[in-house]
Amino acid sequence: MDEVQQEFLEIAAQVKARLEYRRALGVSFVERSSWECSPVAAPVASRVNPATTVSLSGEKPSAARSGGLAAVREELGDCIRCKLHKGRKNIVFGEGNPDAELVFVGEGPGQEEDLQGRPFVGAAGQLLTDIIVKGMQLKREDVYICNIVKCRPPGNRNPEPDEVEACEPFLIKQLQTINPKIIIGLGNVAVKTLLKTKEGITSLRGNWKTYQGIRLMPTFHPAYLLRTPSDKKLVWEDIKKVIAEIEKDRKR
Ligand code: SF4
Repeated sequence: MDEVQQEFLEIAAQVKARLEYRRALGVSFVERSSWECSPVAAPVASRVNPATTVSLSGEKPSAARSGGLAAVREELGDCIRCKLHKGRKNIVFGEGNPDAELVFVGEGPGQEEDLQGRPFVGAAGQLLTDIIVKGMQLKREDVYICNIVKCRPPGNRNPEPDEVEACEPFLIKQLQTINPKIIIGLGNVAVKTLLKTKEGITSLRGNWKTYQGIRLMPTFHPAYLLRTPSDKKLVWEDIKKVIAEIEKDRKR
């Protein structure tokens, strides 16, 4: 098989995956946006982190940022700053590309995340991975995924204000280090914490907001979608806005 045939098969596989993803969301039509109609354009994944980019310090951004994240993790240490440390098995710091243009911020680790020490690896995590991989045609390693609190709240309850207050400085440092172009806030707790608002996710979702100068798209949490699959279509609408924004950035 030559290179052209190989490329064609890869594009066909990407289109098939996205159509299957839409079908799973109950979307039966195909939009004619430039992104949809440009299968030969380089996937978003391949456009991030140009290796030739050098920061003002002369250091490659990936080295500077991964070092920065490591420093934040070191500062967090074996944290006992709030009562959530009592029930945790592992701190779930976050994972992904230190140079990510796109960061997902959720609420806190669940049982599976607590066991593995990794964010979004349970059933809701699989749904998020589908959104990233099948919906956005990215790899999980291309984005960064983290939570408002790094330890599992007992019984998956919402984190309490004192817990958020204790843990949020580390999220802020993570986001300052990565400095992404876009943040996707997942669910009520994440979005309310980031935006310092009492407004609920139902009215906030789908509307661009700003967090510290970074564009922020609020949308439903994947765990909510597991309980309310009919709202997957709304999340897809929000994700399409993010995809369009990434495309606009690419053309600038
Ligand atoms: Fe520390 Fe955050 Fe865990 Fe609380 S949730 S113990 S502040 S790491």
